[in-house]
Amino acid sequence: MSKSLLIASGNKHKVREIIALLDGVPWRVLDLSAFDSIPAPVEDAQTFEGNATLKAEYYAQRLQTPCVADDSGLVVDALDGAPGVISARFAGEGCTDEDNNVKLLSLLKDVPDEKRTARFVCCSVFVGLDGKTHTAQGSVEGRIDHAPHGSNGFGYDPLFIPTGYSQSFGELDASIKASISHRARAFTQMREFLASLP
Ligand code: IMP
Repeated sequence: MSKSLLIASGNKHKVREIIALLDGVPWRVLDLSAFDSIPAPVEDAQTFEGNATLKAEYYAQRLQTPCVADDSGLVVDALDGAPGVISARFAGEGCTDEDNNVKLLSLLKDVPDEKRTARFVCCSVFVGLDGKTHTAQGSVEGRIDHAPHGSNGFGYDPLFIPTGYSQSFGELDASIKASISHRARAFTQMREFLASLP
């Protein structure tokens, strides 16, 4: 197996999930720790696809390796789609996942159950050294709970109850998240694309 593929993300939780979802592809899957560190690009696009594309193009070009980047986040209907593309830094630059969850709960404190609908969205973009690109998107519907539950996963997982379940991603087994999540859906498509390349 000679082809290398870089998973370009500084988020170790996301990288762990992505590497598991790409298990078995005929590529040597590397993360950024396999390269000398370079500054991260500024994620200033207004869409998940825009940010995933700029990350994949940047790392493929700078590190001369075919690259898959993803951009993902939480879209809450009662907040007109916020936190959206700023999900990672919703409570401000340098904030923690807990800070983000506290802010989200406080903004939703008077919102009744039926209006707490939300979805996780993931856009995954491949950029090859020959200029070939491929985009795959996935989402999972759910609602925002009134308090965090569970310590599995990361980010907003303790607050997000996927439709059809009564527990949050923070409580559900990782194998359930791996079968229904936004990232699983995007990377199932991406995996098929990668397997189809010569
Ligand atoms: P990104 O690294 O710019 O794509 O930021 C993604 C942010 O969205 C994360 O830092 C989390 O706050 C949130 N997020 C994305 N995917 C998930 C997930 O699977 N569970 C919980 N939070 C997520």
